[in-house]
Amino acid sequence: MNRDTAPSPLAGEGWGDAARDDSRAAPAKSQPGNVTAPPHPTAARPPSPARGEGKGAGLVPARVHLFDTTLRDGAQTTGVDFSLDDKRAVAGMLDRLGIDYVEGGYPGANPLDTAFFAQKPTNAAKFAAFGMTKRAGRSASNDPGIAALLEAKADVIVFVAKASDYQVRVALEISLEDNLAGIRESVEAAKAAGREVMLDCEHFFDGYKANPDYALACARAAFDAGARWVVLCDTNGGTLPQEVAAIVAEVAKTVPGDNLGIHAHDDCGCAVANSLAAVEAGVRQIQGTLNGLGERCGNANLVTLIGALKLKDRYRERFSIGVGEAQLSELTHVSRALDEMLNRAPNRHAPFVGASAFATKAGIHASAVMKDPRTYEHVAPEATGNLRKVLISDQGGKSNLVAELERIGVTLGRDDPRLTRVLDEVKEKEAQGYAFEGADASFFLLAKRIMGEVPTYFEIERFAVNVERRHNALGELVTFSEAIVKVKVGDEVLISAAEGASGPVNALDVALRKDLGRYQSLIEGLRLVDYKVRIFQGGTDAVTRVLIESADETGERWTTVGVSANIIDASFQALVDSITYKLVRAGATA
Ligand SMILES: [Zn+2]
Repeated sequence: MNRDTAPSPLAGEGWGDAARDDSRAAPAKSQPGNVTAPPHPTAARPPSPARGEGKGAGLVPARVHLFDTTLRDGAQTTGVDFSLDDKRAVAGMLDRLGIDYVEGGYPGANPLDTAFFAQKPTNAAKFAAFGMTKRAGRSASNDPGIAALLEAKADVIVFVAKASDYQVRVALEISLEDNLAGIRESVEAAKAAGREVMLDCEHFFDGYKANPDYALACARAAFDAGARWVVLCDTNGGTLPQEVAAIVAEVAKTVPGDNLGIHAHDDCGCAVANSLAAVEAGVRQIQGTLNGLGERCGNANLVTLIGALKLKDRYRERFSIGVGEAQLSELTHVSRALDEMLNRAPNRHAPFVGASAFATKAGIHASAVMKDPRTYEHVAPEATGNLRKVLISDQGGKSNLVAELERIGVTLGRDDPRLTRVLDEVKEKEAQGYAFEGADASFFLLAKRIMGEVPTYFEIERFAVNVERRHNALGELVTFSEAIVKVKVGDEVLISAAEGASGPVNALDVALRKDLGRYQSLIEGLRLVDYKVRIFQGGTDAVTRVLIESADETGERWTTVGVSANIIDASFQALVDSITYKLVRAGATA
């Protein structure tokens, strides 16, 4: 890097001019006069593209492409299992976030992935299929793996090949030249089929350290055969940032940085640092996963990388990514939505998006933060859609709440006294164990109830659930559930009973939806599509949180939440919210 024109290493530490600029932090934009902190002296300073690439004045920032592998490498995480619907939802989320490439998995590997590749799930983002280079001893045109890749509805084909002579000899047991021929012929075949092609150079850094000439020959073979990208993989995650920087700088003499990518694993806790070091050394594509999902210690965390690339001056002045300011303000939501989908507790301490990332305990830090948030914050929480947590009714909380409500279609001005009541209610519910990040429909109802816009459609007089394990007529041991619900609709009292082979919640659901009197026709198309339970310690007692995802005949999906010490009761709350939400959306009146 040219020291004369490079930004000072401290340039990014003066509090995120990006983060504090109201034109970038969506929630603050429409509320002049209600800033959470005195404006930073540099807040109005536009990004200075003049320092882009350190090449002198007038240059635009270099474009860095983001490549997401949550659905391929991230799916290797212990305990993570994506359904077809999950995969489509994740791809859609990444597409809207502004990710350039979404990798879907291995077409042909299993029926689920074959189905996923039958239809492209993204609009703007390029959809990528992953697979091996051709096997030694057969031609690319005669290789079933390559045929499956070329059949997939993918814009991009990502081949993986070993770039380490040791791995080629020991793991593949083929000759070094056969491995190079496999790279060349596979890239040529996909290129000839009209696809954009990438090569993931597996074990590149370890391979380079042992035999730089061979690692480079692999990279060069792919590039010469027409690959758009040659991706340098730190497959075992053991490489350190200084090594990555030095090796990338050497590789860039053989394959231009504009055609190089980095794929880092986090086994040393350096995957994000390694990715940033690689970008500084010249690569223009970063691969990673949402929330750093991935086997062992995970992959480079794209969420953290997006925060750093967008908010730290050192990067945002020199590099641009496909994620815009409005999309950046959705980052916290995206990160938590993925965790909810996977039924994992979000990492409270995750950079930029964690619930505690901007939490300050009362005391000297908190009083300083209230005077000026820059005293203990490196960027503004609202830039990524996160919240500052110091005092209950702090202005930052309100700004974020206004934005969160707008996101779900509820308009409440920040001077509206009902906003304070919504905020208080959210805080109180969260203290009880509710989490609204993954339950937009319950959040919507909470706000609309305070606004007086949710009619009392029905009242539950009582419900009972019975679970019994017994021998049936055939002498088999079966578990059997039945539920009775007594509900009042207007002046009418309705009693419904149901039995459920799928358990007590199913029986309760069927009974509740069996007869809602005059509302029955409006809920005929309602069905439950997902049910998640999380049990955690809240205070001294265990608390159960249930999330229920529902869908209707129009394809709309919504999620509701219930919390109780009792799992049936928590489920029932979520079921009632789901029906109420459907009725509100249908415009039903009491
Ligand atoms: Zn990997």
